[in-house]
Amino acid sequence: MNSRLSNRVNNMATSATLAMAAKARELKEQGNDIIGLSLGEPDFTVPEFVKEAAIQAIKDNYHSYTPVDGYGDLKQAIITKFKRDNNLSYTPSQIVVSTGAKQSLANLAQVLLNEGDEVLLPAPYWVSYSDISKVAGGIPVEISTTIDNDFKVTPQALEAAITPKTKMMIYSSPCNPSGSVYSKDELRALADVLVKYPNIIVVSDEIYEHINYVGGHVSMAAFEDMYDRTVTVNGVSKAFSMTGWRIGYMGAPEYIARACNKMQGQVTSGANCIAQRASIAALENPPSRIQYMVDAFKERRSLILGLLAEIPGIKVNEPDGAFYVFPDISYYFGKTYRGKIINNASDFAIYLLEEAKVATVTGEAFGDPNCIRISYAASDKDIIEAMRRIKEVLE
Ligand code: PMP
Ligand code: GLU
Repeated sequence: MNSRLSNRVNNMATSATLAMAAKARELKEQGNDIIGLSLGEPDFTVPEFVKEAAIQAIKDNYHSYTPVDGYGDLKQAIITKFKRDNNLSYTPSQIVVSTGAKQSLANLAQVLLNEGDEVLLPAPYWVSYSDISKVAGGIPVEISTTIDNDFKVTPQALEAAITPKTKMMIYSSPCNPSGSVYSKDELRALADVLVKYPNIIVVSDEIYEHINYVGGHVSMAAFEDMYDRTVTVNGVSKAFSMTGWRIGYMGAPEYIARACNKMQGQVTSGANCIAQRASIAALENPPSRIQYMVDAFKERRSLILGLLAEIPGIKVNEPDGAFYVFPDISYYFGKTYRGKIINNASDFAIYLLEEAKVATVTGEAFGDPNCIRISYAASDKDIIEAMRRIKEVLE
């Protein structure tokens, strides 16, 4: 806290994922043998055809400001992708390209929320949803789920959380951090509740769309009666291993897209031009081009689930998508080590970092204080060694 800083930033939490990754990096630089399973980012390199497009863009002298909401031909590639993969029809004025899906989400909170508006967050939810909402004046309202129900929100729980102040709901499927994938029937059941409350805008974060081991990705906006009040957020970070290239995008009702364009015009002027050119090459390709990454993640999922099953006191469900496991570790609460008590998931994550030298993220940051998140977007070698160490220190 520094009183010279705004209340806005003083009241904001630091991103737990990025903070843990920074801590792990720092410990590593000090010579500690840390295995980082905290940050959710694919460990593959960027596909060659995408790199080539970026190199070509530099050679072709792309250098100037782009249209604020993205190059016209990138928007066209996004429109084609939405139609091809999600059966969603958008026009160019409904598409906004941003500096990562994170900025798409931040834009949405800024243009939709007034002070005191409530934002429904089925928990566990991705770490930044709550602070992105709060900084825009919104009040996050968590809706709890259970591991036995695969961390999926029920229509009853959703309806019970709605008040006259509810303005927005944000969810991800496949979900970060639980890996849960909503089926068409499950989403339809949620939509049946939402259609009764026309003031609620739904933000469907589909950034893990392709990292799905059961198939059948469904977009909320594909339901005709939800299309006009759903914003579909996606990006190239996860599908094409382009996290640092910072390109995300949304398909939205036109008035929302225009508002995001206005907001972005005052804040960033638009996303990086070279990364935008490269994203055209990425999105023009069918998802089969990146199937090799999905296949590898699927094998690693089996590997980590098998190893976790050997550790007593850890309860884990099988995630259907993304590259995280979200085990319930509450069995260890109240246990003591070196005179310190593990009171909660944050203490547990610190324990793993200090004793096993494995970086994970506390579930508290995702709205579930009984769990931790482990990313398996890592090599088999690191996964095996990390689970060996965790097992050893928990014994
Ligand atoms: N949504 C979810 C669920 C995520 O896991 C991430 C990962 N960072 C993002 C949005 C933001 O992605 P990016 O800004 O890299 O496009
Ligand atoms: N989405 C990743 C994660 O959840 C990246 C970190 C971030 O953007 O906060 O770990």
